[in-house]
Amino acid sequence: MESGSAFPSLSPLALYDPFTGMQFSQKHCFLCGTPTVPGQDAVPVFAEWLMTRYNLHERQIKLLDMSIVRYEELQIACCPQCRTRHVEPLEVRVQQAAAQGLAGLRELDEQTLFLWLGKMFYGVLVTELLNELMPLARPQYPLAENAQLFRRFQAFFQPFQALRVPMEYDDFVPGSVFLLETDLREDTLPFFYDDDLSTLTFSIKLDEAVLVACLVDNGIIRQAMRRVYDDAQRPLHPAQVAEFKARVYYGAYLLNVVPDYYPRAVHPGDTTLVMDTLIDDVTGAVFNPWENSGYAQSLLEMWKPWQIPLTQILADPAQPLSLLYDADGQPRQLDHFQGPQTENEKES
Ligand SMILES: [Zn+2]
Repeated sequence: MESGSAFPSLSPLALYDPFTGMQFSQKHCFLCGTPTVPGQDAVPVFAEWLMTRYNLHERQIKLLDMSIVRYEELQIACCPQCRTRHVEPLEVRVQQAAAQGLAGLRELDEQTLFLWLGKMFYGVLVTELLNELMPLARPQYPLAENAQLFRRFQAFFQPFQALRVPMEYDDFVPGSVFLLETDLREDTLPFFYDDDLSTLTFSIKLDEAVLVACLVDNGIIRQAMRRVYDDAQRPLHPAQVAEFKARVYYGAYLLNVVPDYYPRAVHPGDTTLVMDTLIDDVTGAVFNPWENSGYAQSLLEMWKPWQIPLTQILADPAQPLSLLYDADGQPRQLDHFQGPQTENEKES
């Protein structure tokens, strides 16, 4: 049944639930569920302005099932109303901010960044999910069977609906969003993106600005990393940014709680939906215990471009290699990365 009458349009403050009927497809608007025409009613995962600015249209991206798609093929089903009223205005705001570089992005409010990153994350995740539902796909990781991922995704989707519904988060931020600056002297990548779908972490680089986010932690990781983030408020060598990302991604991996969200009852005349949250951490720790061996794997992955071997990362098993801090725990200035062999000898 896909007649229009089966999907009366949602009232402006009503939330949409695509999970009950698993309504993820190219046939329903991702924000309101209205039937859409596949191939016609869609928005790109990576906005047109972004693809143009970084020549991404033809660039390829490898999905978890090892299939290859072009950036321009990544699309989210979106009805004309949500596209023109919600998605495009968001993209215009971020485009204008990004045109001013890092300073412009810093001016954006927390919710805008969360929604913008969230939209791309959503698009990539759903592409993976749909791909998996295709009978010919041979997924390496059965996402649909990952109950933890689904709980997180479902939680994320509540505050994410602020993209369509005017929404106020009562005294919380839904995710941890970090904005870093790279030192352009040894920075060769104008654009870069990566994600960890299972933990809802996402990172995107726009020239000297690097955004890193965990989209479903109610800001817990940012709180835990407050000192590291404060110390990172300076132009960082890209290898230092990679270390910062390793900390966020590993922190998200250790995160042991999923927030619950509760929309408050809407009364006649209300123009905003107020969202409350609760984290049930009574039953256990917020984070699973930190293991240097696990963190070292995260570093190894992020430092691949600099080819730093695990033996060097774990030369001191009690203190994995850091490029952000020196041996005394002081923020380290790294102007030039000399490569894995000489790195130990060089302290600047
Ligand atoms: Zn819609």
